[in-house]
Amino acid sequence: MNRCLLCHEPLIPTLRFQSLLSPDEPAGFCDSCRQGLIKIDRKKCCAICGRDLTIVAPSFISQGVCFDCKRWEESGMSGVLQRNYSVYQYNERMKMLMTAFKFRGDAVLAQGFKPDFQAAYNQIRRDLKKAEKRRERTGRMHAQSQKMTRLMNQVKNGDGRRPASSCT
Ligand SMILES: [Zn+2]
Ligand SMILES: [Zn+2]
Repeated sequence: MNRCLLCHEPLIPTLRFQSLLSPDEPAGFCDSCRQGLIKIDRKKCCAICGRDLTIVAPSFISQGVCFDCKRWEESGMSGVLQRNYSVYQYNERMKMLMTAFKFRGDAVLAQGFKPDFQAAYNQIRRDLKKAEKRRERTGRMHAQSQKMTRLMNQVKNGDGRRPASSCT
């Protein structure tokens, strides 16, 4: 039986359709340990460092960016950190996990983060693809509008084909 990577209590497998198809549940954290890991809503985080803005005082937020990042951007270091994506809040449980991971060398704990990190990574890729498509569409629209402007100027200046209705 798998045990929680953090508290070492036996993991009670959640019965899902998926578990019937592949009964080997990957190693991870138990529900109780998982409860302390608070995921950050991507729509409510700092646009630069990824900090959870729902737990930051409103006076320390400006245009979707936290006070620390704003100060950093104004310090002449602007653009050094373009974007960081954080999956969890840095709370007491996370501090404990990081201590175990970094200082006690419990590298196996990384397995417990795998599903959430994978989901976050896939979401970021989808968001980037969407943004890229939006940029391409805007670029095409910009090129079309420039072409239209050129054509209209040609007609106006008389150096292009005139509209059929023209009687001069
Ligand atoms: Zn546990
Ligand atoms: Zn920030």
